[in-house]
Amino acid sequence: MQIKILGSAAGGGFPQWNCACSNCWAVRAGSFQGKARSQAQVVVSGDGKSWFLLGASPDLRWQIEATPELHPRNGIRLSPIAGAVLASADLDHVLGLLLLRELQPLHVFGTGSVLKVLREDNSFFGMLNRSPKQVEWSAMKLNEPQRLTIASGEDAGLTCTPVSLGTRYPAYVKAARAGHLTPDDAVVGLLIEGNGKRLAYMSAVGKIDEKLLQLLDSVDVLLFDGTFWSEDELIRVESSGATAQQMGHIPVGGIDGSLWLLAHLKTARKMFIHVNNTNPMLDESGAEYRAVRDAGWEIAEDGVDL
Ligand SMILES: [Zn+2]
Repeated sequence: MQIKILGSAAGGGFPQWNCACSNCWAVRAGSFQGKARSQAQVVVSGDGKSWFLLGASPDLRWQIEATPELHPRNGIRLSPIAGAVLASADLDHVLGLLLLRELQPLHVFGTGSVLKVLREDNSFFGMLNRSPKQVEWSAMKLNEPQRLTIASGEDAGLTCTPVSLGTRYPAYVKAARAGHLTPDDAVVGLLIEGNGKRLAYMSAVGKIDEKLLQLLDSVDVLLFDGTFWSEDELIRVESSGATAQQMGHIPVGGIDGSLWLLAHLKTARKMFIHVNNTNPMLDESGAEYRAVRDAGWEIAEDGVDL
């Protein structure tokens, strides 16, 4: 299995257009010890030919251009991108689908409720079904492995098992609508398997329980929620707003944080991804970055191959 990280930041990217927090300010001033990042985007392949996007970020156009494996070949309009697997209906995670509307046959997977929100409530996504051979949508059942086939039906050598990580739908989904959706479908982690290897992609994790710990211990590569370092990080920058937990993210730092709770994982390769621009661990000269690295974790960067 090949895994490529095209983007590693949370929604808004790093730096974020309307933010002058100490991190964003320092990046623009050229004094930051660390790297700018585009919005979280991972691609996987089981055969080296067909690639599946995990989510579809708003930065997808440039992320594709920066990745030769994803360029069309032989002078024809045919992309190696075979489809996408969606973990939620968050805008930062699905807007990129609208950038793929040039009649390319794609196979898009998501939980039943997430596909309903996109296709029944948002007419823009109809642009992906202007012709019969455009986008095929497949609903995934929780905890059941699903073969990732390309639009023609061919097997691409990968399976995906979605595991529920949260019941929070994006703010644009009204409460009345959410009441008709399956709560556990809202946010899932993606367990991707191929060639005897296992990847867990979990960019929004609200809590860590024993069942999740067992699952994470069984994978070869873990890409885990690194959105916030502390519970009140955004409130301190914005002087108001929501806590990390209220936004569906367990913080990395602190005694209730993921770094501590996942300290005994045997996973070979552990990376934090979906890192918000306010997170102090982005600063490679800082104590938080050192703590993460000393604990055997990496912080995902754009352009990393696994
Ligand atoms: Zn910022």
